[in-house]
Order: sequence, then C-alpha cells, then structure tokens
Amino acid sequence: MIPKPPPRDGALGFLYLPPLRVQGYSVAGEATTLYVPEMDVCFDMGFSPRSALAAKFCALSHGHMDHVGGLAYWCSQRNFQGMGPGTIVCDKRIEDDVRGMMAGFRNLERQVTPYELITLEHEQELQLKNNIMLRAFHTEHTCPSMGYVIVEKRTKLKEHLQGLPQEKLKEMKLRGEEIVNHLEVPLMAYTGDTLPGAHLLRDDVRKAQVIVTECTFFDPGHQERAKVGMHLHVDDLVEWLKVAECEHMVVVHISRRTHLGQARKQLNQLAGRELASKVHFLMDHRTNRARYDEQAEEARKLEEELANRD
Ligand SMILES: [Zn+2]
Ligand SMILES: [Zn+2]
Repeated sequence: MIPKPPPRDGALGFLYLPPLRVQGYSVAGEATTLYVPEMDVCFDMGFSPRSALAAKFCALSHGHMDHVGGLAYWCSQRNFQGMGPGTIVCDKRIEDDVRGMMAGFRNLERQVTPYELITLEHEQELQLKNNIMLRAFHTEHTCPSMGYVIVEKRTKLKEHLQGLPQEKLKEMKLRGEEIVNHLEVPLMAYTGDTLPGAHLLRDDVRKAQVIVTECTFFDPGHQERAKVGMHLHVDDLVEWLKVAECEHMVVVHISRRTHLGQARKQLNQLAGRELASKVHFLMDHRTNRARYDEQAEEARKLEEELANRD
C-alpha cells in the first residue's frame, strides 16, 4: 500500500440568489471569505481564493485570524496581478492593528504592498456603487466586531405628483421643492461572528433581502459553548428566523464537526419546513449544485419559450 494523496479541500461554496451571487469559503475557526461580485465587495478574508481578487473592497467583520489570515496576501496578489491596490474596510477600533499587520509584512518582505484603508464607525456608510452604500453596525463578539448592510438608496416621485408633465416637475425642483420620497432597500446583511442581540433586529438587518449569518453551533448541548465564544447557536438562528423578513438566509461559519445533513434536519424540526426552506448552507456543495442546476434549467426553458414566441 502506498500513502493516499491528501483530500481535495478548499472548494468554494456558491449560491445564486438573484440578482446577487454569494461565493466563498467559510468554516468556523478555519477561514471565512465571502465574495459578492455584483457589489464588488468581499466580507472577510480568512484566505484569499483567486476569484476574490477581483473585488475592489474587502470589509472586515473583526480581527480573528480565520477572518483576516488572507488579507495581506489578497492585497499583495491584487498588486502582483496589476489590479491596483485593494481597499480594506474595517472598524475604526482595529485600524492600528490592521496597519500594524500590514507593516509587519512590509518589514518581512523588504518591500511595500500598497493598499487603501477606510475605517467605519457604528452607523457610518461607504459608497460601493451608484446609490449603493455599505453601512456598518456594531455586533458582540470576543473582540471589536462589526456587521454590515448593503443598502440601495432609491427615490420615488411623490404620489400626488405622479402623472404631472416633466416640465412642471423640473420647474418645482428648480424652486427647491422636494418632489421625491427617499427610501432605502436593504439588499444584504452580513453578521460576521456575533452573539444574538438587538443588532440582529435592526430594521435594515431584519428586512434585508438576503441575510448572511454565522451559526457556529448546532449541537443541542452546545448553547453554553456558543455563549462563551460569543457565537450564534441554531436555537438563536431559529428565533431570529421567525422575525426576519429576508427572502434568503445564508448560513456560514458552521463548525467542521457539524454534519450538514443533520443540521438541515434539525433546522426543519425547530423552525418548520417552510421557514427552514429560506435557509441555505453556503458549504453544502451538493444541495447548492442541485439548486443551481434547477435555476439554469428554468432559465434555459424560459429563453426557449421567448425564442419560440417570435
Ligand atoms: Zn470566526
Ligand atoms: Zn471570531
């Protein structure tokens, strides 16, 4: 007998939740890197997969190694590939530590890796794209920690003005009258590592179309461990699910010990099938692959139908 080759690990999880993709890797304590291509942003950089290099921003939830281990490498590779400096977004409270880490690599390498760094405080926002903002909020973990909401800001013509000619509207606008209502649509929320609490019940988080959340512990006896590590347990997730208005909840940061089939069963039992059907496990490759194949098949049929119409 000769030794076996090593297991092929590190396959990236992938979910298409129109119009957004969530792709990356996340196992508790090992590494978490999530990339949302449509928003040009990564959340955390536990390690730096090649596909994450294209993101312009990397927003950090906190400084634990499984969330920042690949950060310097990500900046370095972006530079190496001629993609320009990456932009790190982080909590104001950890700015010096992140800069210190980057300086450590500069000393070790005897060369400078360029990067941009933008800090956010609780409730502060950063523009990702036209009309699209990244808003930070404090969470509760064993070190300074933040979650994020991606918010689309829309304007809508006031109801009583609808149907008026453009000229008239322009004139009112020039006079300085407010002719539109401002509304915001929370597209996606990301919790990072956190205890449950009021921060999960904020309107912009609770009503986000997609919630990407950690849930580290599923074992029925592990509520206490979750509390000590300041993480979510599946019991917390189920309570939250009852009041969240999201279309999709993507669960990440599950411990390696957790059997995903078992976790799915538990969730079905605790939350009921209907609520549980909103929940996706990012790293459940087989289920997500089957779901994607179905989406592709539906899209193909639709295209065929449209083509046959004319
Ligand atoms: Zn973690
Ligand atoms: Zn952590």
